[in-house]
Amino acid sequence: MHLVFLGPPACGKGTQSEILVKKYGYHHLSTGDILRKESASGSELGNLLKLTLANGALAPTDLVNKAIKKDIEKYSKNSILFDGYPRKIDQAHFLDDIIAETNGEIRRVFYFDIDVNDLLQRILNRVTCKDCGAVYNLQTNPPKKEGVCDNCASTNFVKRGDDNEAILENRFKYFLEETAPLKEFYQKRGILTVIDASAPLKNVTEQIVNAL
Ligand code: AMP
Repeated sequence: MHLVFLGPPACGKGTQSEILVKKYGYHHLSTGDILRKESASGSELGNLLKLTLANGALAPTDLVNKAIKKDIEKYSKNSILFDGYPRKIDQAHFLDDIIAETNGEIRRVFYFDIDVNDLLQRILNRVTCKDCGAVYNLQTNPPKKEGVCDNCASTNFVKRGDDNEAILENRFKYFLEETAPLKEFYQKRGILTVIDASAPLKNVTEQIVNAL
């Protein structure tokens, strides 16, 4: 029984994923993380991806589909939390096919609803632990001890290269054109829950847990 998180960049999908993974043991499948890892690997493909990620465009669907197929087949016995996939209608169809092949089911799709001005604030305040990947927002969800990761005690924090005002505009454009139509796609199926993602972090978790 799998879950899907849909929403614009920096809406809090990654943070809520981390919480649900800890609470219920989902396998976290973040296509953004997979693509960033590939891009940092120095491979030929990684170098091509670097450009895509840097300007906020969507990566080629064939490539993303191949990566998630491998992961779904590996973890098909677990419940998977899809974070950032699908991002387009054709990806949603592909996901249906693989889930059917692996006898799984999408239990619920959560649409993170948030105002674009809130997104900009979040993006500007978002930092990631370089060592374990934990994500913080310096305003709304800072580490308990300033400058020290709650998860692994590292003091190395980095900002994502695509977290800036200029690139947000592009990422948001792709979201509106390609990803937002998935809301209706899953609504028609009766498995969509819209959550208020501008609420405080704990409240967002409550909204998700209550709809599970
Ligand atoms: P995210 O970490 O989910 O914000 O994703 C970061 C970037 O990875 C996006 O801006 C896209 O360039 C790329 N990306 C992530 N997921 C997908 C996907 N399902 N399809 C295409 N590109 C993706």
